[in-house]
Amino acid sequence: MADKKKRGLMLIDNHNRKINYLRLAVTDRCNLRCNYCMPSEGINFAQKDSLFTIEELCKLSEIMVGQGIDKIRITGGEPFVRKDLMILLRKLADLKGLKDISITTNATLIGPHIKELKSLGIKNINVSLDAIDKETFERITRRNQYETVYNNLVKLIAEGFNVRINFIALENQNTQDILPILEVMKHYPVSVRFLEEMPFNGGSKSFNTITWDYKRILSHIQSEYADITKLESPKTSTSINYKIKGHKGTFGLIPSFTRTFCGSCNRLRISATGDVITCLYGKPRMNLREVMRGENAKEKIKDQILKAIGSRSKTGFEEQEKYVGIFENSMTSIGG
Ligand code: SAM
Ligand code: SF4
Repeated sequence: MADKKKRGLMLIDNHNRKINYLRLAVTDRCNLRCNYCMPSEGINFAQKDSLFTIEELCKLSEIMVGQGIDKIRITGGEPFVRKDLMILLRKLADLKGLKDISITTNATLIGPHIKELKSLGIKNINVSLDAIDKETFERITRRNQYETVYNNLVKLIAEGFNVRINFIALENQNTQDILPILEVMKHYPVSVRFLEEMPFNGGSKSFNTITWDYKRILSHIQSEYADITKLESPKTSTSINYKIKGHKGTFGLIPSFTRTFCGSCNRLRISATGDVITCLYGKPRMNLREVMRGENAKEKIKDQILKAIGSRSKTGFEEQEKYVGIFENSMTSIGG
């Protein structure tokens, strides 16, 4: 009986995978213009009334936690460009059944909120930092925010957050910083995660293959550090993790282009405009915004979520086969 009850609170997809992780984008806007994510101008941001309101995001989260989601990652665009973000985070901190609230941020605007985030019990913050050299960072992000980002990163670490740095290996742009960022970060208890670049950049550039895949990143790191140990990682982890002897933290490799981790995927994405995305490499399955604004919203949303997870592709490659034009998307609407 107890087991049945427990199962009732679980979302299981059509490949028998437990879906307990929601990546919730709260906006598609951003104060940076990272060149791997979006073009420098001419971006079609969503109209304000097509974004979920903060109350709708609270309600959606509550419904989905009721269905068995126990981890929510807040992403975007840049989550902190939403002035009312803290209202949502306070609500999430109050939700029974939600074990993990995480945030992915560019760390430009997080400074004034660090104390409150800590008091809400939020622990996991991913910071995007694609270079340790100021000029390289500002060339990639097309804005002059290096000091702010770096200072906030150090503050987050000092306050005891579990900080992970996301560094995308970009050919001819920042790979010369792979070893230096590890050298700087060796004094800090952080995980530096190197990601493969994906072709979701709002049409800034297109490519069918990458030269800096996770194997090349690893052998580059091994060329400098002889004593590297592979760490055990959870089955649903997207990163392969390592420890360098003498470093306080760890590093990880995320094969986001090579996609070796799809088989154990436990995640669902919802965009800031309400699109339900069951795989990064596909089109949205449905949109929840009007459902949320209509009659009987709670029951209808629950049904739609069940429908979406009942028809997932096994892998990103399988999903990609079904669609053309998915690489015109930008990560700023998907949330990474
Ligand atoms: N603005 C926040 C940030 O940058 O951390 C959150 C949103 S951002 C879209 C989420 C993640 O997607 C970031 O870690 C970013 O590096 C990653 N991302 C964006 N475009 C990407 C691309 N073309 N390939 C791989 N990762 C990408
Ligand atoms: Fe903004 Fe994040 Fe995209 Fe950079 S990666 S442009 S910080 S949303």
